[in-house]
Amino acid sequence: MALTLQERIAEVEERIARACATSGRDRKDVKVIAVTKYVSLETVSAVLEAGLEHIAESRWQNAEHKWLVLGEKGTWHFIGHLQTNKVKDVIGKFQYIHSLDRISLARELQRKAESIGQKVNVFLQVNISGEDTKFGLSPADVPGFLQEIADLDRVNVIGLMTMAPYEMEPELTRPVFRGLRELRDELNRQGLTPEPITELSMGMSNDFEVAIEEGATWVRLGTVLVGHKEG
Ligand SMILES: *Cc1c(COP(=O)(O)O)cnc(C)c1O
Repeated sequence: MALTLQERIAEVEERIARACATSGRDRKDVKVIAVTKYVSLETVSAVLEAGLEHIAESRWQNAEHKWLVLGEKGTWHFIGHLQTNKVKDVIGKFQYIHSLDRISLARELQRKAESIGQKVNVFLQVNISGEDTKFGLSPADVPGFLQEIADLDRVNVIGLMTMAPYEMEPELTRPVFRGLRELRDELNRQGLTPEPITELSMGMSNDFEVAIEEGATWVRLGTVLVGHKEG
């Protein structure tokens, strides 16, 4: 028997609480983002009704209808690779962009945010694992990147994001998550941003407990929380 949405939420909540307890972290410091890219409008609606606030999608084409109907009811996160020519579609709708990985994208975010008189919260996507199939800045390029975008006053860098490779044994992802945390701490030691970078967006269905133990402040949960493909 498949679990209901309520049961899945309760189970995930229990697992998050346990990971926080194991690592001596405060449950309040870990926020859950429901990744709804696999599921229908009806499920997104049910997720919001159930009290989850943060919704993530990875492609505007798939998100558009859901956002038009439910946009006002939640806080939206864009987690996919963002093409520069799609910035105009997502700006002002998605309050958080998790995939800033190049200067041209930062400049376009600045332009479009300015044109509507808003700021946009971003995470720099970093390719910690070094797999060439993954998007993201290499860790060594992040300090220079931060300096280059420092004058983009509409682009508010709040954190770093990474994806670990899929592992049968989640424990094997730990060095990736630890690497992102250590990079954040090093950037803060160097004082490269006006305010310290606090946020770490890391951990998915397969590995979120390890990510929490290593300091995740946002976990992005699709399959385990809202289910995979429907119908
Ligand atoms: C799809 C996706 C997720 C969620 O994946 P699950 O394994 O289903 O939890 C998280 N982050 C990103 C960037 C994704 O594309």
